Amino acid sequence: MNTPLNADLHCHSVVSDGTLTPEELAQRAKARGVTLWALTDHDEIGGQARAAAAAAACGLDYLSGVEISVTFLHQTVHIVGLGFDVNNAALAEGLQQTRGGRSQRAREMAADLARVGIQGAFEGALSYAGNPELISRTHFARFLVETGVCKDTYEVFRKYLTEGKPGFVEHRWASLKDAVRWITQAGGLAVIAHPARYKFSANEEMALFTEFKGYGGMGVEVTTGSHSAAESASYAATALEFGLAASRGSDFHSPSESRTELGALPDLPEQLTPVWELLAGRIQRAPTSTLA
Ligand code: AMP
Ligand code: MN
Ligand code: MN
Ligand code: MN
Repeated sequence: MNTPLNADLHCHSVVSDGTLTPEELAQRAKARGVTLWALTDHDEIGGQARAAAAAAACGLDYLSGVEISVTFLHQTVHIVGLGFDVNNAALAEGLQQTRGGRSQRAREMAADLARVGIQGAFEGALSYAGNPELISRTHFARFLVETGVCKDTYEVFRKYLTEGKPGFVEHRWASLKDAVRWITQAGGLAVIAHPARYKFSANEEMALFTEFKGYGGMGVEVTTGSHSAAESASYAATALEFGLAASRGSDFHSPSESRTELGALPDLPEQLTPVWELLAGRIQRAPTSTLA
């Protein structure tokens, strides 16, 4: 049986596509009752030192974090890395490569939106990106909401920016093998993020989990802001089937956009091994830590 812990091991700051700073997130997580936290910006660890310092200052235990964009069987899959050495050179290099194509992709996305009459989307999206290298669909979504094209980001992703819709540009991210290797060789634990979000067939999903495990991946998000209760139950069974540890994270991006607040998640099902049990030696403990 695992010990319930209010761990939130998935969220985003202004360093990628969130709207709060690492310090604001740490304080918000603390105020919402989180005790173990990880900031997991997309393809970037530039916020890790600030997040770890802010966590220590407000009494949160901390794990280093990142969410790597991967292309697997023509779909984008996200792999969360937890508890790695933030100074690892190969990880930094891999992340830099992964970020590389975003600017060109964003220009192509804007050109595609212009074809359906939406002008100025590149500059518009860029104005929301705290880090221009990390320009993402989320920043385009904010531009489309602010200019009144859509009422919220959920409508944006229903009508635009997704496969078959205006503004979608196919992109090749890191390979699954590389992403898992960068994380594990830096001493961290690789986790398949929000598995219910992908549109794989049963066979393709089996291939994802099998290959992930073969490369040394050890965890899967079971409880996330992206999963319904039924989906969490289904991936709890998958975690047991594949012998993977389970992670828990809100995927919080913004107070005004995110449906799931920091730390506001059900506990992991009892029979699962939480990722933090495997990462005990990697947790940066706050002076006030209550962890054993
Ligand atoms: P990118 O890395 O540029 O492809 O952007 C992916 C980001 O867009 C995700 O990390 C989410 O923040 C956001 N996103 C993708 N799909 C959706 C969706 N259906 N609803 C809301 N946000 C989404
Ligand atoms: Mn995001
Ligand atoms: Mn994700
Ligand atoms: Mn995320």
